[in-house]
Amino acid sequence: MKYQGSPVSRGIAISRVFCFHDEPLRIDERTLEEPLRDLELHRYHSAIATAKQHLEATYENCRICDKEKAMIFQAHIDILDDIQVREEIEDAILLDGRCASWAVATVYDSYAQVLASSDDELVQERAADLKDVSVRIQKILSGNEPVSSLEDIPEDVILLAYDLMPSQTVSLDPRHVKGIITEVGGMTSHTAILARSLGIPAVLGIPDLLKHVKNDTLVILDGIDGIIITNPTDEQLAFYESKQIAFLKERDYEETFMPRKPITKDGLQVDIHLNIGDADSSRYKKFLPYADGVGLFRSEFLYLGRAELPSEEEQYEIYSKVLRNLGDKPVILRTLDIGGDKKTDCIPIPAEGNPFLGLRALRLCFAMPSLFRTQLRAAFRAAVNGNLWLMFPMVNSIEDVRKAKEFCREICDELEADGIPYGKNIKIGVMIETPSMALMAAEVAREVDFASIGTNDLCQYTLAVDRLNPTVRQYYQPYHPALLKLIAYVADCFNTVNKPISICGELGGDSRFIPVLLGLGIHKLSMNTSAVAAAKAVICNTDYRQARILAMKALTKATEDEVRALLNSSAT
Ligand code: PEP
Ligand code: MG
Repeated sequence: MKYQGSPVSRGIAISRVFCFHDEPLRIDERTLEEPLRDLELHRYHSAIATAKQHLEATYENCRICDKEKAMIFQAHIDILDDIQVREEIEDAILLDGRCASWAVATVYDSYAQVLASSDDELVQERAADLKDVSVRIQKILSGNEPVSSLEDIPEDVILLAYDLMPSQTVSLDPRHVKGIITEVGGMTSHTAILARSLGIPAVLGIPDLLKHVKNDTLVILDGIDGIIITNPTDEQLAFYESKQIAFLKERDYEETFMPRKPITKDGLQVDIHLNIGDADSSRYKKFLPYADGVGLFRSEFLYLGRAELPSEEEQYEIYSKVLRNLGDKPVILRTLDIGGDKKTDCIPIPAEGNPFLGLRALRLCFAMPSLFRTQLRAAFRAAVNGNLWLMFPMVNSIEDVRKAKEFCREICDELEADGIPYGKNIKIGVMIETPSMALMAAEVAREVDFASIGTNDLCQYTLAVDRLNPTVRQYYQPYHPALLKLIAYVADCFNTVNKPISICGELGGDSRFIPVLLGLGIHKLSMNTSAVAAAKAVICNTDYRQARILAMKALTKATEDEVRALLNSSAT
């Protein structure tokens, strides 16, 4: 039998399947009479005390031998201790009469949903942690084991589950788990992120598969094209065995490029930068020697999932830490990009009919000047600790650029007057992620020191398609010729005046598309750490003159399909 799912982690696995039955909890949606509510509150309090005991014991077990795992459990303890969440759950029990498991599920879910809708992988991971803690409490309330463990899983299997929680996946051993299949989830779910980081092939989002597949069935998992085949024929086995060999060869080959400088065959040096959204250096530190800097530091992670705004001091410490980690290499700090899909309790944004076109990013900062000023003060002060470049998101007019620069001038004057050390010559730039700014690139280039193209939003706003709405997924076309024309124009404008221009949207790390970007004049790419090796391999194998011809041809195409066909024909 053949099934189609989302390919979220590349690779081929052929193995027996291990069915992990950990069905989602059924939530008891009962409303309680008043006299029962105190008792329910007591049940909730003892459940969180038990959860805390478990988590603290697991944390202690991991602390010495595996710091990374210990950090996950510490984060879960912190989530459990969050006063605001606790108070909301208590209110839901006492005031609304919800039974404890229902109150826990709804309150944690409301926070998790906000984080899960972010396009930043690291922020989405936090959503999975919230759900994990929520399920742990609910299981204790229902008298079940708090976490079904994956520790006893047999060796060399493809793991099939409804979904996996972070506290379960910490015990996954990539030497024994050859592949992962889940019924839910997609490219950005926690399991996908984990599978990619462990290098385990994975296909997610095949509903009801556990009902159809028995333990120990032989399965082929194709994490390149998202295919699952149960009880394969001999021909299918032979086909996928050779596909597996070819894939492993290609991956090993790409890895050999990691330490190399990304220079095309005919000598064009390309800069590779990292996209990061977290101060936790363990996630990106090992890539630093192989990258030229941080091309996008998404600062909004600092504001998400919390009730109080981060203080100037807190921000100063985090920015300084990242800058110190990078030494002389540039760190492009993007100022707050909240609004649109990213919402947080610490910044109350009035409900909007069309939030992606509403009070987002720089507009929000202008509407809440003290919020903006706090971040700018922290950034300018931290700049003495490294090579900080400051970048504004969602800029939509030259007035926006000038106004943001005026804020910077005022902050510098203030710090100067107070005798506080700050970065004096930091570069100021903008993201180009709206069609208006792309079309005004010549004027923008005169106003700023650098720019970076945010292709995720540029695609959304150019093609008028919500980047998060699965029902219009087919209209979200990052290779659309309209987008190529905008990128080409922006690159030309900045290259003409010799100012740095980069791409920090997903397209920047798309190894298939990188030759076109080089040919269009983008020679600085910022990407997720997992994309670096493949990007370097492509660059080192590209002939820049050929890339220019390819880009010129791509610009003559009328549809995204034609662009894709051109890329396919040039790859063969
Ligand atoms: C983009 O829009 O391409 C971008 C990098 O910003 P974000 O994805 O954070 O909106
Ligand atoms: Mg953007």
